[in-house]
Amino acid sequence: MAIERTFSIIKPDATRRNLIGKINAKFEEAGLRIVAQKRIHMTKAQAGVFYGVHAERPFFDELCEFMCSEPIVVQVLEGENAISKNREVMGATNPADAAEGTIRFEFAKSVGENSVHGSDAPETAAEEIAYFFSGLELVG
Ligand code: GDP
Repeated sequence: MAIERTFSIIKPDATRRNLIGKINAKFEEAGLRIVAQKRIHMTKAQAGVFYGVHAERPFFDELCEFMCSEPIVVQVLEGENAISKNREVMGATNPADAAEGTIRFEFAKSVGENSVHGSDAPETAAEEIAYFFSGLELVG
């Protein structure tokens, strides 16, 4: 089992509803350690760079508007197989398809306002962590 780090966002629909603690409890119960965390308010341009891979998708503008609509919490989670474990804890993108007990099953409002982001691979995890955190902010 490899110790990995993954990048996570608690999205505006969740920060607005005061769900940071409940979502962090899900990570910690799953054995993921929050090794960096900060609350920020992205600009639309920053959201556009972060979600650049989706630039051609029909929901891109809506997604960027949503992600800069209110503050978010950006995080680095560490643990055994953290990338796939976090994806399990998050649940499916569309909460209608999310398994019982997952964050999106319990808290997400819709396929767009789905409470959390989590990296999908080691390369994206490294890129996403570096976009939001400096090395000095990562205290494992
Ligand atoms: P994820 O890795 O599970 O977050 O899913 P994706 O990488 O496929 O999509 C990134 C994000 O885009 C999702 O978490 C949603 O917030 C948003 N998104 C995906 N599909 C749709 C959609 O059909 N409509 C809207 N409005 N947003 C979507």
